[in-house]
Amino acid sequence: MSSRRMDTILKQHNWDSGEGVVGFHTPDQRIFVTRQWSLPHEWAHAAGLVDDRLGMWICEGLTESVAQEVARQTRTPYQPTYEYERRLVEDHLAPALGMKPLDLARQVVKWYEGGKIPAKEIARLLGDPGLLSDLDRGTGDHPSERLLARLKKTNARP
Ligand SMILES: [Zn+2]
Repeated sequence: MSSRRMDTILKQHNWDSGEGVVGFHTPDQRIFVTRQWSLPHEWAHAAGLVDDRLGMWICEGLTESVAQEVARQTRTPYQPTYEYERRLVEDHLAPALGMKPLDLARQVVKWYEGGKIPAKEIARLLGDPGLLSDLDRGTGDHPSERLLARLKKTNARP
C-alpha cells in the first residue's frame, strides 16, 4: 500500500504516523505493509511477539531474529531492521537464559498466552526479580547498563 494509506491506518489505531513506517499489525491481526520486505517482521509480531510487558528492545530484537529465520526459510525478499536489538537478544539475552533466540521467542508467546508477564518470567529465569523494571517496557529502547552487565556476567560463566 502507499505511505499515505499507511498514515491513515496508523491514525485509525492512534499510532504516531511518523516517517517511514513500513509495516504495522493491528490488535485484530491484520497486517499492513508499504514494503513487501517488511512482511516477515510483521508476521512475527502478529504471531504474538509484542511489547506489552516486555522491553521494546527485547520485543523488536526477538521479532527480527524470527523474521530473518522465516525469510531465510521461505526465501522471502527481506531487509534487516533492528540489527542492534537483534544482536543484543541473540548474543546476550538468549544465551544468558540458556536458550536459542527462536526458543525464547516461542516462550515469550507462550507466556503471553498463559497470562504471564514475560519481563517477570525472564527476571525469574535470570535469578533476580529485581531486574523486572529493567526488562519491562519502562526502560525504553535499550537495556540498562545494569542489565547488560548482568547478562554479560552470566554468559561469561565457565
Ligand atoms: Zn517491529
